Amino acid sequence: MKDIERFINGFRVFQNDYFGSDSTHFESLKKRQNPSTMFIGCSDSRVDPAILTNSSPGDLFMVRNVANLVPPYQMDDKLHGVSAALEFAVCHLEIEHIIILGHSSCGGIKALMDGTCGCKGGGFISHWMSIAQPAKDKILAELPDKDPTLQRRAAEQAAILLSLENLHTFPFITDRIRQGKLSLHGWYFDIEQGELMAYQPHAGAFEYVTEKADR
Ligand SMILES: [Zn+2]
Repeated sequence: MKDIERFINGFRVFQNDYFGSDSTHFESLKKRQNPSTMFIGCSDSRVDPAILTNSSPGDLFMVRNVANLVPPYQMDDKLHGVSAALEFAVCHLEIEHIIILGHSSCGGIKALMDGTCGCKGGGFISHWMSIAQPAKDKILAELPDKDPTLQRRAAEQAAILLSLENLHTFPFITDRIRQGKLSLHGWYFDIEQGELMAYQPHAGAFEYVTEKADR
């Protein structure tokens, strides 16, 4: 119960910060949210977009799942959680940016690369990670003899690009991009270095966008 008490105490701090007598932050948020940006991040406990970007409640519309994946557009009778969130963010909230936030040491990508997805009675992870199979195939073809650690890092970044490609299969997203009202971004959090990289289309590569103060 120690952890649960810690979370409730944490909520008290939040409550005091945002609902205390000297805070007006939630006054407009009580009526509606109006975020400009959607993050699609990994479920990994180390890569919370709100914490990493020093954001506040109301700033980020968010989906987090195993390996921060976006499936391709598919209109069928299956249950599409990511697609529903995308539709709400783009069509109703009219967000201006979608950021796919990947990261180093991603367990989902490691499972995909190692072929160790799933557990007894499971199968959800391997089926979900099949979205990123083209990224795995690409990296194994391009870097066949490289160290597995390097292959995983390349696959983590390739999976971000694949999710960006998949975003382009949604008609309501391409419409907004064409109208100049929406832009897409691929980011990569390098946990070991404590640095943020962003995909630069002109360079065709992820580049560091932050530098440590002591460099
Ligand atoms: Zn991950």
